[in-house]
Amino acid sequence: MKVIVVGTGYVGLVTGACLAEVGTNVVCVDVNEAKINDLKNGILPIYEPGLEEIVHRNYQNGRLSFSTDLAAVIPGAELAFIAVGTPPGEDGSADLKYVLQVAQQIGASMSNYLVVVTKSTVPVGTAVKVNRTIKQALQERDVLIDYDVASNPEFLKEGAAVQDFMKPDRIVVGVNTERAQQVLAQLYHPYVLNGRPIVFMDIASAEMTKYAANAMLATKISFMNDIANLCELTGADVNKVRRGIGSDPRIGDRFIYPGIGYGGSCFPKDVKALVRTGHEYGHNMRILEAVEAVNEDQKKVMFSKIDRHFDHNLQGRTFAIWGLSFKPNTDDMREAPSLVLIEALLQAGAQVRVFDPVAMPEARKELGESVTWCTDLYHAATDADAIVLVTEWNEFRLPDWSRIQSSLKNAVVFDGRNIYDDVTLQKKGFNYYGIGLTADI
Ligand code: NAD
Repeated sequence: MKVIVVGTGYVGLVTGACLAEVGTNVVCVDVNEAKINDLKNGILPIYEPGLEEIVHRNYQNGRLSFSTDLAAVIPGAELAFIAVGTPPGEDGSADLKYVLQVAQQIGASMSNYLVVVTKSTVPVGTAVKVNRTIKQALQERDVLIDYDVASNPEFLKEGAAVQDFMKPDRIVVGVNTERAQQVLAQLYHPYVLNGRPIVFMDIASAEMTKYAANAMLATKISFMNDIANLCELTGADVNKVRRGIGSDPRIGDRFIYPGIGYGGSCFPKDVKALVRTGHEYGHNMRILEAVEAVNEDQKKVMFSKIDRHFDHNLQGRTFAIWGLSFKPNTDDMREAPSLVLIEALLQAGAQVRVFDPVAMPEARKELGESVTWCTDLYHAATDADAIVLVTEWNEFRLPDWSRIQSSLKNAVVFDGRNIYDDVTLQKKGFNYYGIGLTADI
């Protein structure tokens, strides 16, 4: 089976590499020539655990190749995945410009029956637009070629993307013909052998499933952040509350950790896009509007704690920021809450020293020389007034506190992810602030 994957970002490259890994012949296509040249030279544009090895192996054995020329590689393919970006437009709706560009190019160059599958996260109704675009391109060529469109939203998590793709919880596929269903069932057969489900449904439901999933996850985060803030006001401890509710299987203990707000390339834009879809249909997504509002406020919570601790005078103070990416195990800086915090600290006249194990090159594109780039967590803490833990990378979990205490000007720790034990740190002489803890009042 020859498969084309258009877009070599987090989704496209992982999809292409993981399909090649089980024996499919894959061509990954991108408009970004530098990215494609790098990939041909074994340099990956993103950090994703385990991905480099799979890309190298499959490139070397010839099952995975890279191209910038979609028109040249489309003929002979049975499946084409569209995995390009769908950034938010000004009104919050998903911008389909890139998706439809690719659909047009596919229609302009296809030569045989093809299943065109949208893997990008796209609003309900996009497959209809993709279909219309391909049809028009074929009409312009005055040719009749059979094809199907399908929707196959991607549920991988950055930081665990390879694992998620190879061992998916489920694969969701929206189709409207038996033929397209068969092609996709064949493609995904190796991944569902262990009883992992492939769920076929109509296209609109598949498109909506992706938004519903991300919206539910974002809701869990904002809900817990709201509870955490109320815990602080009332003297309750959210860590205990979380354990107390998480043991109820109807609630579950995953994804109910409070923090400094969700970020990344998906939750913020997908929540906005779903709210926007609601508006288009005259339906207010009231819960999601609140989810978004809570999240915007939550990104400012840590700055308020810092500002209060230092009596609203941060001028000339220095802060060590541990972690920059929006979550651990990724270099993705899109919508990272660290950026909001750093901006607020700089605005208040503070100096910022940062360290992240992987995301510093990406972060540098945003932050330039406005901060001091450090070589490790201890270097960042040198002569700082406080440490602010932003991203819970494993290497931040058990630092040498005595070493840190001797290099800090003030022994203060702001823990944006509640990974440290407040009592232990207080015994060591630190002032400790977490999220939603009694210690914070
Ligand atoms: P990305 O920005 O990392 O990558 C997109 C790639 O598409 C870029 O390399 C870009 O150069 C390329 N591209 C743009 N226009 C093109 C064109 N006309 N032809 C060829 N290539 C083109 O994006 P991503 O994070 O991989 O996300 C892609 C889609 O998948 C989005 O809709 C996103 O919402 C969705 N998604 C992302 C994740 C995630 O964790 N990142 C998870 C699930 C779904």
